[in-house]
Amino acid sequence: MEKITSLAKRRGFVFQSSEIYGGQNGAWDYGPLGIELKNRIAGAWWKEMTRLHDNIVGLDAAILMHPRTWEASGHIENFTDPLVDCKKCKTRFRADMIPEENLASKKCPECGGELTDTRKFNLMFKTHIGPAEDTANVIYLRPETAQGIYVNYKNIIQSNRMKIPFGIAQIGKAFRNEIVTKNFIFRTCEFEQMEMQYFVKPGTDEEAFNDWKAQRWAYYEKLGVKMDHLRWHQHGADELAHYAKDAYDIQYLFPMGWRELEGVHNRTNYDLTRHSEFSGKDMQYIDQDNNERYIPYIIETSAGLTRNVLMILCDAYDEEKVADKGNDDDWRTVLRFHPDLAPVTVAVLPLMKKDGLAELAQDIRGELKEDYSTDYDQSGAIGRRYRRQDEAGTPFCVTVDYQSKEDGTITLRFRDSMEQVRVPRAELAARLRSEIKSYKRVK
Ligand code: ATP
Repeated sequence: MEKITSLAKRRGFVFQSSEIYGGQNGAWDYGPLGIELKNRIAGAWWKEMTRLHDNIVGLDAAILMHPRTWEASGHIENFTDPLVDCKKCKTRFRADMIPEENLASKKCPECGGELTDTRKFNLMFKTHIGPAEDTANVIYLRPETAQGIYVNYKNIIQSNRMKIPFGIAQIGKAFRNEIVTKNFIFRTCEFEQMEMQYFVKPGTDEEAFNDWKAQRWAYYEKLGVKMDHLRWHQHGADELAHYAKDAYDIQYLFPMGWRELEGVHNRTNYDLTRHSEFSGKDMQYIDQDNNERYIPYIIETSAGLTRNVLMILCDAYDEEKVADKGNDDDWRTVLRFHPDLAPVTVAVLPLMKKDGLAELAQDIRGELKEDYSTDYDQSGAIGRRYRRQDEAGTPFCVTVDYQSKEDGTITLRFRDSMEQVRVPRAELAARLRSEIKSYKRVK
């Protein structure tokens, strides 16, 4: 993880928030490569969940919601973590994350000091809306994006004439006052989620649940993720939310071990029933074709976008021996991103700045810009420039040399195999398109 954190900072993927003030715990900033990567991961998910499904539509609900929302959802009462403090070293722990024997003996796992009693700690960030800081003006930063979907479900049925089964997808920020934030961007207080809520007729929920499990698994395979680094974890009785009928997590083998990446949950009709009770609005779906009405069951697929960024970085990271000269240059660091996710798709590199090569390279870049995210680099030895692109995960480099001026061909270099082929400039765009479409991860 240290290597990934340092590469992420060095190459401008992720910076500590407010670093000049010593950093802000639980918050991170996405630099030029990081925002491109995050946007592409979000784009791949959005395409998968909306464009490829005729019955799923998008939504972007506000972060600030009516406080009654969180009473109805149960977050005010139940969205808590058990907290203990060490009286001696002042370290704060999530009680469910330290060994049982330490809890039983009230002994700090760090320094052996005495632990406080366990108390409940609500993870929602609370603030006030308007100038008066009184209880009537309390408002929360949403701890999940899902509720924004539930409260809009009737609006969407009416405006878009949706018929069950259908889904609503949303990507957005969520906030949780996490007790322990470590492992880089894995668990943060401010993060982004990609959630899809699928509304089904009660009785068909189990089939839909199994179907979504299969779809979400296939999605990661399509992105070229190492499938032996993914596994399912079914929630046991002690983990299952009180309203959930069944829940599975997709876990990824991060450097610190197997951890949750995404959850697929059967949330039953709990949320809509509660919103119906708390708002007084009828949340039933009216099936005019079959002359029946019911509160739908909801299958949720809930993935962390920022956690997916970390997963994709870990999954892509590789160090490879490429020479045997006994120095640092023998090794390269390479991020093996799927070309659809890579922050830069193609870098254009003139072999020399002079003799019109730089101008020709800029001209080629200008042509590729409309369709691809590009980079241009003219400084340093060509081998060094390839390494810089490998480290940024750029799948293709185009090198312009003297022959390019003469016969109009360029060198296309592949990140993964380091293979180089000569391609006529006129065929470059089509070649890139077909390479991206047929990309298969080899290592
Ligand atoms: P945990 O038990 O690890 O706190 P959770 O089971 O409460 O997490 P969910 O509420 O199911 O998590 O959230 C859905 C997804 O949102 C998770 O799979 C994860 O990818 C992401 N997520 C949740 N909390 C955080 C966080 N603090 N930082 C980054 N991503 C998060």
